[in-house]
Amino acid sequence: MTAPLFSLEVFPPRRNAPVGTIYDTLDGLQGLAPAFISVTYGTGKSKDRTATARIANTIRGEYGIPAVAHLTAQYLDKEAADVALDLFEVAKVDGVLALRGDSVEGQTPAGVFEYASELVSYIRENRPQLKIYGACYPEKHPQAATIDEDVDNLKRKVDAGVTHLISQLFYSNDDFYRFLDKAREAGINVPIEAGIMPVTNAKSVRRMSATCEARVPEPVEAMLQRWGDEPAALREAGIAYASQQVADLIAHGVDGVHLYTMNHPAVTRRIWNNVSALFQS
Ligand code: FAD
Repeated sequence: MTAPLFSLEVFPPRRNAPVGTIYDTLDGLQGLAPAFISVTYGTGKSKDRTATARIANTIRGEYGIPAVAHLTAQYLDKEAADVALDLFEVAKVDGVLALRGDSVEGQTPAGVFEYASELVSYIRENRPQLKIYGACYPEKHPQAATIDEDVDNLKRKVDAGVTHLISQLFYSNDDFYRFLDKAREAGINVPIEAGIMPVTNAKSVRRMSATCEARVPEPVEAMLQRWGDEPAALREAGIAYASQQVADLIAHGVDGVHLYTMNHPAVTRRIWNNVSALFQS
């Protein structure tokens, strides 16, 4: 059995925060040796379109870690997509996570890439040297009517050229295992990494689970009830819960685990210290 992959995700510093704060995050992650670090890309028109490429360049050039650049497509025309892809190639990214992105109120999509699979085809055709990653949803994407419909659409995306999938966060591993069975039955045979977001802040868990329609299972609900107003205690419980989730995923032979760092390297490091030995076997 091949050792499971371990990868991380960071995001460009929020608006008003100096872009240099990303160094605090990356310094804090040093020594963890992930297979890659992925960098998110803001959806909508007003975002800084170069931040992802600049950070990917830093990760690869200054930290010597492979970088994967996210790209959200629904507000891009082909020219804008090419500009982003050119920057990624200059940054020598290991690959692109091709996404549709969420809608932004009051903004009209460019009408070129309606679904991620169309961006995937475009990259496959024009940049055959780039590895293409895609997103998947263990509890289905909120806009899909059923999980079966979502998996059918995912199969289309993989057939268009995705060679590696990374999942949305989930708090119950059983949901991930059910999804994996469905994906494999549908003939999706590329590696599927499990996306884990540690519970560290009650408000953000409520917000994320509402946005992503991720189920909050009873053990997590109990943690939120018990320590929702005690950030330090919730953080400890969240580190323990995420570590247990990762151990169980590896025991079940998953292809890999993608940790959403939320730019909190201390939490990521604690989880890594708990589970790193499991990634060796
Ligand atoms: P798609 O794969 O296009 O799917 C979107 C919906 O359309 C699904 O319901 C799907 O079933 C349906 N669909 C797909 N193809 C078809 C078709 N041919 N016909 C009909 N229906 C179809 N957002 C950001 O803004 N920036 C980021 O950096 C970012 N990173 C992410 C990383 C990961 C690992 C994940 C899981 C999500 C990320 N997101 C990010 C969120 C993502 O942009 C949203 O979830 C978005 O709503 C969907 O993007 P997608 O690429 O999965 O879309």
